[in-house]
Amino acid sequence: MLALRLTAWKSDPELVEVPEPHPGPGQVVVRIEGAGACHSDLHLMHEFEPGLLPWEPPFTLGHESAGRVHELGAGVRGLEVGQAVAVYGAWGCGTCANCRVGMDSYCENPAGAPVMAGGGGLGLDGGMAPYLLVPAARHLVPLPDGLDPVHAAPLTDAGLTPYHAIRRSWPKLVPGSTAVVIGVGGLGHLAVQILKATTDAQIVAVDTRHDARQLALECGADHVVEPGPGALEEIRRRTGGRGVDAAFDFVGTDTTMALGAGAARMVGDLTVVGIAGGTLPVSFFTIPYEVSIQTTYWGSRPELVEVLDLGARGLLRPKISQVGLDGAADAYRRLANGELEGRMVVVP
Ligand code: NAD
Ligand code: ZN
Ligand code: ZN
Repeated sequence: MLALRLTAWKSDPELVEVPEPHPGPGQVVVRIEGAGACHSDLHLMHEFEPGLLPWEPPFTLGHESAGRVHELGAGVRGLEVGQAVAVYGAWGCGTCANCRVGMDSYCENPAGAPVMAGGGGLGLDGGMAPYLLVPAARHLVPLPDGLDPVHAAPLTDAGLTPYHAIRRSWPKLVPGSTAVVIGVGGLGHLAVQILKATTDAQIVAVDTRHDARQLALECGADHVVEPGPGALEEIRRRTGGRGVDAAFDFVGTDTTMALGAGAARMVGDLTVVGIAGGTLPVSFFTIPYEVSIQTTYWGSRPELVEVLDLGARGLLRPKISQVGLDGAADAYRRLANGELEGRMVVVP
């Protein structure tokens, strides 16, 4: 079968012929119907220095995937061939305290996982191919009625990651509160929808691109702001001068983190999801009292069940464009150039 593979660091992915996978005991092969193109893949392909990550190319890209069960390994119960499933993408050891509660993204025994701190498309072969080998049946979540695999695919990361980040700020996002979303791409446009569906906060969205700001309004943002001089004042003005109760940064540069911290209200949250690698100086005098600053990585399997439920009920609708495997490398170029709206989903 043809697969879109990263063959070396600092290179574009290539379509390469690879053998079709077959499941060993406890494993499952999924026939892929959708695999989302995440900006993290661009960081991975072009920015990370060799040695930064505990694994290396070659491997097939695609860490947000959904499809249908194709072949069950010996001993797998509770799944049927042909059943529609989403793939939980962080593949941990399965036995540490975090994996036991479904939080493989924070596996504390990565040496016991199929790949150290990774998963399909992140060190192991991912979903940008007709078939994906999933190393343990527990990573498959059956799709609820009303949700097709093409729309479910982006929910497994572009939906799950902001959901996890927003969920931990829920107690602060009461009526009268404000949340700001910085970066309205694949993750950010779903963050706006998640805020709308699960909180009472006023939503302010920030993006450099006009089209992305328009998308934020379509997704339920109350106000949009263009970054640059005056942006911080405009955000604060929308909060009556108090500042925002939670800022979610889906870019992660020095500039966006400074904007998030500058916009924060006392006792607010700043959650950095974007992995552009920026830094934020923190001192007693530079951030408001009791602001909590955190990074988050992906989300848990129980949270994926919740995200898929929101998707099935139409409360979370990823804006997607579809492309075949032969158009996937070009789709990544368009993502890098900021030419995509929402999420690009590769349909092998
Ligand atoms: P994307 O390219 O689809 O969206 C990024 C958006 O940010 C674009 O709309 C872009 O116009 C906007 N943007 C860029 N610079 C900006 C600035 N200075 N101010 C405001 N907006 C700006 O990317 P994505 O797939 O949504 O991913 C977003 C980030 O999140 C990436 O860094 C990605 O690697 C990271 N990510 C992190 C996790 C995690 O678990 N922490 C998971 C998935 C993705
Ligand atoms: Zn991702
Ligand atoms: Zn673990």
